[in-house]
Amino acid sequence: MRIAALLLAAGRGRRFDASPSASGSSKQFRMLRGKPVIRRAALALMPHVDVLLPVGDDPLLAESLAGLDILPAVAGGAERHDSVRAGLEALALLPEPPDLVLVHDGARPCVPAQVVQNVIDALKQHEGVIPAVAVIDTIKSARDGVITGTVPRDGLWRAQTPQGFRFQTLLELHRTHRDARTDDAALLEQAGHPVAIVAGSEDNIKLTVAEDLMRLEGVIDRNLLPRVGLGYDVHAFEEGRKLILCGIEIPHTKGLAGHSDADVGIHTLCDAIYGALAEGDIGRHFPPTDNEWKDMDSARFLVHAGERIRARGAMLVNADITLICERPKIGPHAETMRQRLADLLQVKVSRISVKATTSERLGFTGREEGIAATATVSIMVPEDEEA
Ligand code: MG
Repeated sequence: MRIAALLLAAGRGRRFDASPSASGSSKQFRMLRGKPVIRRAALALMPHVDVLLPVGDDPLLAESLAGLDILPAVAGGAERHDSVRAGLEALALLPEPPDLVLVHDGARPCVPAQVVQNVIDALKQHEGVIPAVAVIDTIKSARDGVITGTVPRDGLWRAQTPQGFRFQTLLELHRTHRDARTDDAALLEQAGHPVAIVAGSEDNIKLTVAEDLMRLEGVIDRNLLPRVGLGYDVHAFEEGRKLILCGIEIPHTKGLAGHSDADVGIHTLCDAIYGALAEGDIGRHFPPTDNEWKDMDSARFLVHAGERIRARGAMLVNADITLICERPKIGPHAETMRQRLADLLQVKVSRISVKATTSERLGFTGREEGIAATATVSIMVPEDEEA
């Protein structure tokens, strides 16, 4: 069975009243834990289908889905059913049209794999399938703020997506009912094809109002895995240079040698972060052969590492840095360093520790030839992120 998915991005989000994001006001292009909502919706469907076709004409659509192994978007229509029909006609033109088609809202970013599988499984027996959850709350009707009745909730379901259909059945119904102001399931029902209900999920939230963003973040955060990174770095002392440690200048008789400003504290913290993310080390992101980074303020490196955490939809739990030197004394500066590192990473200062030790006058640090530093970080990273 060849399975296709239509990802609908045509909605304008009239009910979404949050302040517009930097990337526009349409809700499906909002960033959600570091990724556009619609990208998360695409990633949730891709493991289950052979082809995925986005439908919509917003310029943000291609940008939001960049780099994914999917078909180029086709333009949507004025109404949802116009968009679905446009998508179905495009799928019909493929060298290998699908046997089954899933139709999914771009504003449902967290559909669980089990829900998608339930729909696909039920299509073995049914022409059409809808995931849904039973209505549990008591339903009241009201007028002018006063209750006029209680609606019996027996047999009431809240419909979700992806809704699944036999491809030829849905295509033919859309071709013969071009003006039908109704949804896909109703088209099938009217044509005498019973549509089955399978188990949906309360996690399958459709981003509609601003508070849905927080509920969706909660769903994503439940699927974070703790990861740990370790950093270690050494720089030799050099006469005539400023001493920069953990983003601040420390009065001392000499500074550290290096290509950048040689901030050994920030370098080791960056390496720990890149390590936890399995993204190599600081030299990979800022090659020392590149003159652009010569005498660079290392704060810029740490800002980049923080951006990588957020871009991965991840969260820094804590960072613990140890500076190893006889002199200068770190203690009087440790609080300023913590605050500076927290600011650069855009996290609370309580998540950052800076401490120091001597090496009892042993070795290169004991002879005051240089400063060594270690850092350990813990980062919560999404379990099911894209590679
Ligand atoms: Mg270094």
